[in-house]
Amino acid sequence: MRHVTRYRIYPSQKVEGRLFTGFARCTFVRNWCLENRVYVDSCLPDLKAEYPELKEVQSHVLQKVIHRIVASLRALRAMKAKGRKVGKLRKKWVHSMEYDSTGFRLTGNRLRLSKIGELRIELSRPVPGRIKQIVIKHTPAHKWFVAIISETPDTPVPTTGTRTVGIDLNLENFSTDTDGRVFPHPHNVRKAAQRLRRAQRKLSRAVEGSRNRRKQRVRVARIHEQVENRRNDFLHKWSRYYVDRYDLIALEHLTIRPMVESLDAKLRGRSQSILDAAWYKAREFIRYKAANAGKYVHLIEPAYTTQDCFLCGHREKKDLWQRTHACPICGYTVPRDLNAAQNILKRASVGWGTPESTLVEIRTATPPIPAVQVPVDETRISRL
Ligand SMILES: [Zn+2]
Repeated sequence: MRHVTRYRIYPSQKVEGRLFTGFARCTFVRNWCLENRVYVDSCLPDLKAEYPELKEVQSHVLQKVIHRIVASLRALRAMKAKGRKVGKLRKKWVHSMEYDSTGFRLTGNRLRLSKIGELRIELSRPVPGRIKQIVIKHTPAHKWFVAIISETPDTPVPTTGTRTVGIDLNLENFSTDTDGRVFPHPHNVRKAAQRLRRAQRKLSRAVEGSRNRRKQRVRVARIHEQVENRRNDFLHKWSRYYVDRYDLIALEHLTIRPMVESLDAKLRGRSQSILDAAWYKAREFIRYKAANAGKYVHLIEPAYTTQDCFLCGHREKKDLWQRTHACPICGYTVPRDLNAAQNILKRASVGWGTPESTLVEIRTATPPIPAVQVPVDETRISRL
């Protein structure tokens, strides 16, 4: 099993200088390869002969730069094959270095990097298993991190449990599940996002090239990082909650958000792109945690989950302001998002277009669902 653990590192000024030089050399190699359309690492010896300063970086690190270009190109090609519009790989500044099995050593709280030197690492928790690879990273908020990729020999045993849950990710709350549990949008993320917007406005007003602007840019990057950290923290706890409690977890493979115009005032204030990113991450977190625990995640087609009636299947268009599902045919009345979550679980359990008869089974198999939203105060997750 693969693990990725991230630790903060504290390079001295001298080591930091060498790391930045390393980034510059990696950037050079990346841009040279893109410009000359060379995508094999066998070009490196010649390149080093021509530009001796490239020898300041461990050779595997430079190879990795080229491997990364190849991987990105392959990903782009796969997306293009699916009919998506893709751009070209652009030249850019490299902010990280990858070490593959050689060129580094970890002893105690000291990390030694070949051709760079030694730096202090904050080992907040032990590294699980054997280290395969490390990535040194610098963030725009001027912090240094190392991601350690390690492997343990154990493989997860698939669960034989039968506890199932369907989760609807939505606008009003972060999520609603078939057991009636509601996670509100984390308040502290919203607060930080507000501050981020204000800081960004201030940045755009600052004079180009001024000292003030430079300072404001770092400030914006810091808040950005804070939003990211708080959201990740929430999503880790949220996904842990479900993976620990259930054996099959059903989600939509993407969340279709309604047009901005139709949102009410409260929702309009919430940045759409922030929500999109959070939903995407939520799925990723739950997927890899489930894979590590031998649990199942079923991602279903998102169409009509809010419109269809869970009980009788009657389809009727709903406006966003309609927070309750009240079926005109069978009279089934529950909160809108709960009905959606139930549809999601139903599709995950029986698939698309299942004949009516199986519906009955599921109906009886589903525990009685409270029509009121369950307050989440008792979980730590809600108050972040
Ligand atoms: Zn109905």
